[in-house]
Amino acid sequence: MQISRHYASLPERFSSALAPRPFRNPQLVALNEPLATRLGLDTHWLCQKDGLAFLSQGQRPDGAPPVAMAYAGHQFGHFVPSLGDGRAMLVGELTDRQDKVWDLHLKGSGPTPFSRRGDGHAALGPVLREYLVSEAMAALGIPTTRALAALTTGENVVRETLMPGGVIARVASTHVRVGTFQFFAARQDREGLTLLVDHVIERLYPELADSPNRALALLNAVVDRQARLIAQWMLVGFIHGVMNTDNMSIAGETIDFGPCAFLDSYDPGKVFSFIDQNGRYAYGQQPDMALWNLGRLAEALLPCIDADTDHAVSLATDTLSRFDSIFGEAYLSGWRRKLGLFSEGRTDTTLISRLLTMMHRDEADFTLTFRHLNTVARTDDTTGFLAQFKDREAATSWLQSWKERLDTEDQTADERFALMQASNPRIIPRNHRIEAAIKSALTGDYTLFYQLAAALARPFEDADDGLDLPPASNEHVRNTFCG
Ligand code: AMP
Ligand code: MG
Ligand code: MG
Repeated sequence: MQISRHYASLPERFSSALAPRPFRNPQLVALNEPLATRLGLDTHWLCQKDGLAFLSQGQRPDGAPPVAMAYAGHQFGHFVPSLGDGRAMLVGELTDRQDKVWDLHLKGSGPTPFSRRGDGHAALGPVLREYLVSEAMAALGIPTTRALAALTTGENVVRETLMPGGVIARVASTHVRVGTFQFFAARQDREGLTLLVDHVIERLYPELADSPNRALALLNAVVDRQARLIAQWMLVGFIHGVMNTDNMSIAGETIDFGPCAFLDSYDPGKVFSFIDQNGRYAYGQQPDMALWNLGRLAEALLPCIDADTDHAVSLATDTLSRFDSIFGEAYLSGWRRKLGLFSEGRTDTTLISRLLTMMHRDEADFTLTFRHLNTVARTDDTTGFLAQFKDREAATSWLQSWKERLDTEDQTADERFALMQASNPRIIPRNHRIEAAIKSALTGDYTLFYQLAAALARPFEDADDGLDLPPASNEHVRNTFCG
């Protein structure tokens, strides 16, 4: 194992060294062996006493302390100048077999100087949720933090009731967020901002090292990655739920799986998160909210972009204005793949919006509608697709338009089917399945959790496990919560 202290060796105000307390009885409940192996970790060691102390409390073989990272953030639009890792720690950076560097970060690992009124811990339920959803996102090909391990601590945490405590060990390209930049900007710490820009460019964007304006080049790169990321979320029906600026990664990876959820039936206004009462982070709001967050990043970076504020604002505004076209392009080309289209047609946006309007009105299941469309492309069997709609006539007429559009292309049915099969997943982590897996795990039975994790690892393959089915009327989960 090669583990460094790259971030921890930045000046003291970037993070706080921790001396974590051992948990009573840390036990692994899930270990992502392929990922562990890729990271050069010895899976046998991880299962033993020292490995468990490493994964649950950040105790490194070299004795170097883990750190809590400092950051600020806009929470639901309100700026909080000091947030930071209140229940998480950066253990260090691991270099994998392909020389990619990953942060190892633990969540639920105990109090830190940033804990404020929180207890520093996590309940097992949200830990299992993050494990399932983040790995599902990775399998869907969406940039995300990865789950390395989930552990129970052998201790209880106080939530609505007493719950078993858990820790998730996750890895990411970085845990630097938009809010990390805001932390230094709020303190008018120009030197801190510059050091952070340099750190992020060295770690994540080495191709920008020689840019004449590094801060602007960084903003530009993050706009690009975030625009593409949000398009990918939208195309699988993912709702992050708490897109505060402290939960937006500078690497363009999905981070912080608190109250996140996937759409069952299609509804652009859909909100699951209990704390999002005004629908700020509803499914259809996500592109706007991402751009809003990038605006906060731009503001934080202004002093590094140009000494003349007006000039800096004008440069940053031009850069931010690229978001819409990058997002739009990624979104539309993703939709074309979902519909099995290989070329760009003038009327494609109309075709797509007609379908979405029907789906919304008829409460069609987002995932199943497209998976059934794959079947139509291969066999002409329209039964499953049409069953998603109340107005079958409208749906039949849409299919007719879609087929006419397909006829403008030369691809074979097999080619089209292959494209659609790789673009429209069979299975996504549905809320009611996650809840059922957690409920059962809390009684000590992890069968469902492991089954679900295994199915979610192959989202595009056909299977007959029933885990892809939408909730029955008594299975709907209306609200999700932070853990
Ligand atoms: P989140 O909503 O998960 O992004 O968290 C927002 C902020 O609250 C971060 O600074 C977290 O570290 C902190 N936080 C959340 N839960 C806890 C907890 N149980 N104990 C201490 N800090 C917490
Ligand atoms: Mg967070
Ligand atoms: Mg969180």
